Order: sequence, then C-alpha cells, then structure tokens
Amino acid sequence: VISVAEALEIVSREASPLDLEDVPLSRAGGRILASAVSADADFPPFDTTAMDGYAVRPGDDPGCARVRGETAAAGSRPPEALGPGEAVRVMTGAPVPEGTVGIVPVEQARRNGGVITWDAPLPPGLHVRRRGEVFRRGDPLIAAGVRLNPERIVLCAGAGRDPVPVLRRPRAIVLPTGNELVPAAAQPAAGQIRNGNGPGLIAALARRGVEAQERPPAADRREDIRRELEATNDFDLVLTTGGVSAGDFDETVEAASEADFSVLFHRVAVKPGMPVAFGRRRRTLWFGLPGNPVSALTTFELFAGAALARFEGRSVPTTVAARLLRPIVRKAAREGALDARLTLCDGRAEVEPLESHGSHDVRTSASRNALLFAPAGRSRIEEGEIVPCLPLPGWLD
Ligand code: AMP
Ligand code: MG
Repeated sequence: VISVAEALEIVSREASPLDLEDVPLSRAGGRILASAVSADADFPPFDTTAMDGYAVRPGDDPGCARVRGETAAAGSRPPEALGPGEAVRVMTGAPVPEGTVGIVPVEQARRNGGVITWDAPLPPGLHVRRRGEVFRRGDPLIAAGVRLNPERIVLCAGAGRDPVPVLRRPRAIVLPTGNELVPAAAQPAAGQIRNGNGPGLIAALARRGVEAQERPPAADRREDIRRELEATNDFDLVLTTGGVSAGDFDETVEAASEADFSVLFHRVAVKPGMPVAFGRRRRTLWFGLPGNPVSALTTFELFAGAALARFEGRSVPTTVAARLLRPIVRKAAREGALDARLTLCDGRAEVEPLESHGSHDVRTSASRNALLFAPAGRSRIEEGEIVPCLPLPGWLD
C-alpha cells in the first residue's frame, strides 16, 4: 500500500502531454495552446481614431480648423495627409490621415459651415491609437501551454493565428463492472443496484472538457472485462469501476494485467478509495476505480485528474489552504480525502467537512465541491486549523 503522494508521483511519471493538432480558431476556446504565438503584424495595423469626430492638425490658431469634404469610416482607405489648419471627419476605427495631431470628438466640436472650433489646446495624440502601440510585428504574445480563454482567442486573431496549434483532447472510455448493475432508468430487482458510476464519470470527464465513450456494465467475469480492456488501444484514458477489492469476484486487476496493462499500483492508503489501481499499456493509462460511487469519483478527481492535467502539460493540481469550520474526528489509519464544502469568506478560503455515512453516501457527496485532505495519524483536527483542500473543477458554481 502506497501513499497518495507516491501514487501521484507514479501517475505524473507515466502520463505525458498529448500530441498536437491544428484547429480553427473559432473552435479553440478551452484548449491548451501547443506552441507560442507571436505577432505577424503591428496592432493596431494603422493609426486610427478611438472616437467619432474630427482628425485635426491645428495651424496658427490652436482651436480651429477647416473641414475637408471627405469622411473616413472604419474600413476606409486612409485620407490624404492633413495640412496645417485642416480637419477631416472620422468615425471610430477609421484610419486617420498622416499629420493628425489629435481627434476632436464630435461632441466637443462646434461646427460652423466648413470650419470647426474646439477648446484649445488639443493634447497631441488625443484619441488617436497609434499603429503598433499594443504590439509590434514579431512581439511574443502568448506562451505555449496556457489554456485559450476568450481573451487569448481574440489576441490570436489579432496575431493572425488561425488555425491554431493545440494539444489533442484526451480520448477516454468508461467501463463499469458488476453483476448487480442495471441502468439508472430500470427498476432494480432484488440485489440489483443502479449504475451511477457510468454517468457520473462521464460527467466528471465532461467537467474537464473531455468527451468520453460510455460502455454498458461488464459482468464480473475476467474474460469479459479482459476483452473490453483489450479493445481500448485507441484511448488515452480507460476508467473501470468495481472489482478491485479483495472479494471472490473482484477480477478487474487480473483482467487488466491479462489485457497487457502493466499494473503500476494497486491500493493506496486513502479513504475513501483504498483499492484503486493504475496501469499502463503503451500510451493508454488505465485507472481501476473502486465500485462504491463516492470512492470512484474521489479517486477519479485525485488520480485520473492528475493524469488529465499531465495530458495538458500541467503538473498535478495544487491544493488550496482553507480554515476548518468544524473539528474533524476520524479513524486516522489512512489519509482522508473527505467530502467538503469550500467557500470564500471576505476573500479567505473556509472549509466545512461534510458528515458522510461512507463511500456509498451519494447523498452527502452530492453537496461537496472540494476534497479535504486529512493526514494519516491525526484522529482530531481542530476548528480553525488550516487544511489543504482540492477544489473540484467549477467549485464556485
Ligand atoms: P466493488 O468495488 O465492485 O466491490 O463494489 C463496491 C460497491 O459499489 C458495491 O456495493 C457495488 O454494488 C457498488 N457499485 C459498484 N459499481 C457501481 C456502479 N457502477 N454504480 C453504483 N454502485 C456501484
Ligand atoms: Mg463488484
């Protein structure tokens, strides 16, 4: 039995960033940028006006100019250069003529026939956006490895990066095991249990942007599970649930091994989720999650979450230090990854441990938004202590 830290070390050693692919910029939101973006042109690409008004070049009179006939709008070609004492009507986004000293906004211009006046002096550069003031051709703009948020997508567009190279999305498959499992839509007969892990893990993956395939539950027969696992070469991540404990019909680890996975750990000193197993076959990682739903989702977040982070070139997710709102009393033989609610109070993290009946308590875990780590060997943690918590993705929602 290894510790959580040791297990995470093994997972991060075995999981590596996925290869890259080019995607249209409009489809790249949320993806991880695979190579750095630099500017292929200046931005703004030309001197332009930030306001509707007049581009002016004052002459001898600092508060007055003659208005030329043409009007420049966004998309116009730049007007001829301004001479001293000249002005041109310009709309936001229009190129301004050479010689422009500043823009007199339309609200501040008094027009009298072909002449405008304003309250002088005109500060040089007023409301003019100069070519290249945001970035210049060749400037580094976005480093590789970051997630493309909408703001970065806009920047990529400004830099002419479409399509954009991103890391491939992981391909994942979920395979529950257990003779007792029936679909959630079914009325369970005696001894049967509704399959929560299938839909639950699909949702846990979706929450991390991974669209996964869901298999119907396999029976507790080694050959059946092996055959399923043999057909997973195309996947980066294979999640089974059930059959990893010490029961007579727990066959998943043997099946994985027969399906050519090297089993890299089995059993981690964590509660819930001790029976969790992990293996690899070439690029395919397999997590043998326990059958109890709270254990399955908890070990998913802990260990499969770390693998997914590595697929994106990131390190294992870090914890948040939070003030404990109620004391914890527990058997401390194993490290605890407890159901908890993390909140912010005046900007500081606070955490409330939830009272769980155990790894089958799907009702309590439905209220959690974080895992609270309680160290092995401490049977009491006091209110007010600072404890490490792992916020679940979207925990503030
Ligand atoms: P196992 O890990 O196979 O020993 O299963 C442990 C417990 O979790 C048993 O009570 C199972 O009935 C339950 N269980 C296993 N798989 C699922 C599942 N997919 N959905 C809900 N409960 C499950
Ligand atoms: Mg079972």
